[in-house]
Amino acid sequence: MRCSRCERPAVVDQPYRSAHLCGPHLLASVEERFRREMQRQLPGVRGGTIAVALSGGKDSAVTLHLAARYFRRGAPVRLVAVSVDEGIAGYRSGTLEAAATLTSQLGVEHRVVRAGERLGTTTDVAAVELGAPPCSYCGVWRRQLLNRAARDAGADALLLGFNLDDLAQTVLMNLVRGDLDRLARMAPHRVRQPDLIPRIAPLAQVPEREVFLAARLAGIPFDHGECPHAHRAVRNRFREIVWELEETQPGTRQSLLRTHERLVDLLLRTEGSGAPARCRACGEPSTGEICRACEFLLLVRPVAPPETP
Ligand code: SF4
Ligand SMILES: [Zn+2]
Ligand SMILES: [Zn+2]
Repeated sequence: MRCSRCERPAVVDQPYRSAHLCGPHLLASVEERFRREMQRQLPGVRGGTIAVALSGGKDSAVTLHLAARYFRRGAPVRLVAVSVDEGIAGYRSGTLEAAATLTSQLGVEHRVVRAGERLGTTTDVAAVELGAPPCSYCGVWRRQLLNRAARDAGADALLLGFNLDDLAQTVLMNLVRGDLDRLARMAPHRVRQPDLIPRIAPLAQVPEREVFLAARLAGIPFDHGECPHAHRAVRNRFREIVWELEETQPGTRQSLLRTHERLVDLLLRTEGSGAPARCRACGEPSTGEICRACEFLLLVRPVAPPETP
């Protein structure tokens, strides 16, 4: 199979746009989609600090690599990579090592936040204590730690490595659950909320397979390891469903993202953005009296009660 844009052999097919691309054209196409999403989701950056959530896996590694190239050409922006160590034995140390290699190659400041120090527990410990599938609380804790770290770094936005597949799965999960609130709170964020750093997803239009190939072709260091808890994730079923739909109806993932955008438009128009309250236990922005991070923490260890004046 030849590339749709030149005579070289293709390395990837794109049934959703009836194209095949060679290595150099795939890299150019991934970078172009990244650039367009940056301009759409985060227009008018003229300086300041941008944080990048860096797990050390392929998606976040490609995001940081492309962000460094994007800002090198434009306004002088300080990039800060933030990694969360959730405390997952046999997994996180490898990804953190890859993250450190990439940040030192790029000359980007790298901050590592450890759940054990900040929360007083880890994903591994909670997995034993709670018995429930760890991804629910692990993801909630990581989101909060990333937000706090980005805020501590003085960041104006937090770039996430979510690819097209990740986002399509999340949209479908929230639709199936009828959870419009969470659908509205998904990245990319349209509205600024106090103390919540806007989360940007510049790989939103790039399928997971193309992110992987781009990382390999560009020689970006990343870790291939898989979290030992991943097989228990509810998301796995949605990954299969989205894949099956995409096979028979190419473009399903993009349609799910468009559905999300239109629903958020409607929700913002009819219900507004609704400023979040503060968690009574930790003071972080929350949709309820106690944030979900603290709700889970209360199950594994006592959280200090708020001080009364
Ligand atoms: S797969 Fe689940 S448990 Fe593992 S790092 Fe991701 S969210 Fe946490
Ligand atoms: Zn080509
Ligand atoms: Zn809280």
